[in-house]
Amino acid sequence: MILFFGTRNGKATQQALNNVRCSHCQQENTLALVEQGNYFHLFWIKLFKIQTNRFTECSHCKRVYFENEFTPAMKSEIS
Ligand SMILES: [Zn+2]
Repeated sequence: MILFFGTRNGKATQQALNNVRCSHCQQENTLALVEQGNYFHLFWIKLFKIQTNRFTECSHCKRVYFENEFTPAMKSEIS
C-alpha cells in the first residue's frame, strides 16, 4: 500500500488594509494582507494546519512586507 502524504497550500485570502500608508511609496489604501495556510495532508485530505504565511503587499509599488516588518499601523488594521 502506498501512502500519499505531504503538505499543501490552502487558498490564499486577501484583506485590504484601509487608512494605512505604505512606508515605501507613501501611498495610502494600497496595502493588502495576504494569508495562506500550509496544511498537512494524507491522500490530499487536509488534516491540520501547520503554519500560516502572512504578508502584506502594496499594489502601487509591489513592495512586500513580511510579519517582522509590519508597521504599528498595519498591525492595528490586522485583526
Ligand atoms: Zn507602496
